[in-house]
Amino acid sequence: MEIRIAGVEPESVVDGEGIRFAIFFQGCLRRCRGCHNPATHALDGGKLVDTSELIDAFRKNPLLTGITLTGGEPLLQIPAALELAKAAKSSGLDVWCYTGCTLEKIPPAASELLKNIDVLVDGEYVEELRDLELAFRGSKNQRVIHLHKAR
Ligand code: SF4
Repeated sequence: MEIRIAGVEPESVVDGEGIRFAIFFQGCLRRCRGCHNPATHALDGGKLVDTSELIDAFRKNPLLTGITLTGGEPLLQIPAALELAKAAKSSGLDVWCYTGCTLEKIPPAASELLKNIDVLVDGEYVEELRDLELAFRGSKNQRVIHLHKAR
């Protein structure tokens, strides 16, 4: 399946706990002021790759704790995000996902994806609430939600 990405960070230690294969989805419509990654906004930017390339790459690395779906806005490409998340889970990797949506506003079309996400970092980036002390998030309104613990 095709996916439009801005790029990947094959061994990230800042996009969630442990060592993570971070996939930066291309495309975001939110335009949060002070966004850390404006190059990911254009819906036709970045590059098209096949999800199988990404899956092969993260499955090859025995050092990984998991994968992180980030961006950009992963929820603009739900089918590709779901395929990546399922492949990670079946390989024993955990899945973090960053989204500008709050958990309460995640669309029903993403319900299957949510089942395959361990940790959701939700909400828009709000520059006035920026705090450099926060782990794995940029502003205080954002939450690091362990979905399965909450169930
Ligand atoms: S949701 Fe994320 S990528 Fe999109 S504008 Fe806001 S901070 Fe930037």
